[in-house]
Amino acid sequence: MNNKTIHITDELYDYLIDHNLRETDAQRRLREKTATMPESSLQIAPEQTSLLQMLARLTRTKKALEIGTFTGYSALAVALTLPADGRLIACDLNPDWVDVGRPFWEEAGVEEKIDVKIGPALDSLKSLIAEGHGGSFDFAFIDADKPNYLNYYELAMELVRSGGLIAVDNTLWQGKIAAPAADEHAATIQAINDRICSDERVYPALLNVGDGMTLAHKK
Ligand code: CA
Repeated sequence: MNNKTIHITDELYDYLIDHNLRETDAQRRLREKTATMPESSLQIAPEQTSLLQMLARLTRTKKALEIGTFTGYSALAVALTLPADGRLIACDLNPDWVDVGRPFWEEAGVEEKIDVKIGPALDSLKSLIAEGHGGSFDFAFIDADKPNYLNYYELAMELVRSGGLIAVDNTLWQGKIAAPAADEHAATIQAINDRICSDERVYPALLNVGDGMTLAHKK
């Protein structure tokens, strides 16, 4: 025995999935549909959905923000946790990707809770701040273009309330994050991990789930 995070074998991963997920039919079929797309690796790992849902529930999220929606698998998971008057603002550049998810949101009865903002997320976030939404979000999930991660983080910090949570995806970057010069995106992700780890405005945690997910709990 040791006290390090254990290595996940294929067998153990299957067990983890079997004992982690409680997907609805719409969630499962959206995941299966997304898996047929060439960009399917942009979707979060299925075991992340139960974690996102738990975080949203623990923070009693009524107002959520997603930066990088893709086909809406993570948006669906979070929207399912929202109360009747809850809202998820979902930002993405590509309307075709979001349209893949919409029928499944509808089927799950949450499409009215998801407000999609198509366009550069930096613009959408700045508009939200200009419209007076600063400090009003309970939860934000960042999973968009990596070069803008630090910008997204700072804007999300403005939009999330004290006691709210920011989750950042892909922060172990295919396991390459600790290599001295892995690739250009690794450097960006190293920068956000460094920022969050030393950011006195938040309580940090970097989790070995999916491709790595860093949590920042705003003080
Ligand atoms: Ca991701």
